Amino acid sequence: MNSSARTAPAGLVVAVDGTSGSGKSSTSRGVADRLGLRYLDTGAMFRAMTWWMLRHGVDVHDADAVAAHAGDPEIVSGTDPLDPTITVDGEDVAAGIRGDDVNAAVSPVSAVPEVRARLLQLQRAVIGDATADGGIVVEGRDIGSVVAPDAAVKVYLSADPAARAARRAAEQGGADLGATRQSLLARDKIDSGRATAPLVRAEGAVHVDTTAYTLEEVIGLVVSLVDDAGART
Ligand code: C5P
Repeated sequence: MNSSARTAPAGLVVAVDGTSGSGKSSTSRGVADRLGLRYLDTGAMFRAMTWWMLRHGVDVHDADAVAAHAGDPEIVSGTDPLDPTITVDGEDVAAGIRGDDVNAAVSPVSAVPEVRARLLQLQRAVIGDATADGGIVVEGRDIGSVVAPDAAVKVYLSADPAARAARRAAEQGGADLGATRQSLLARDKIDSGRATAPLVRAEGAVHVDTTAYTLEEVIGLVVSLVDDAGART
């Protein structure tokens, strides 16, 4: 962890929601590192659930089949912002959950209420442990609205689709830009349109369009929101 970490208010939760490729992960990890907080990537948990369904031959477009298995995988998230980890049934799936097969299946799996209920339980347990130990930055789609509605700081990140596709393609070692953009937009559509815990800008969330800003600028902005929240408590 960053040795110059500043002191954040005890028990702090920072909720970072937004679309795919809006800069959530890099921002959240950067903020957590700077403030000496833990970090939870809830998208990785939904990806891990999806990876398990694919591995076990569950039809990801059959909501009943997915629901029947939502309790089966044992998913464990490590919360060091400099080295976040994720395992399923003890297997390291950090690389496997980023594949095209998971990208294509994760939004339908995430729309199943039983999946969300199971992961909500796990997410709240991680957040509970971390807040007893300083605080946590949590990123996802429904953090400020459902998972941690009482978070002291809520941020909603967006960016224009071309910038998002360019960032994601670069992260994936120069993946095809057009295909990456299509995949992002397809996931946005399902994530925003689902009945349970859709992607929304939560009440009280500060909206930041990251298109024109550098990562350091966005991190600095979120840190200043945390400072403001600290001043108010
Ligand atoms: O953040 P990331 O793009 O890795 O998330 C992958 C998918 O997981 C999203 O497209 C969405 O379907 C699902 N997700 C969710 N709720 C969250 C986080 C992720 O439904 N809190």
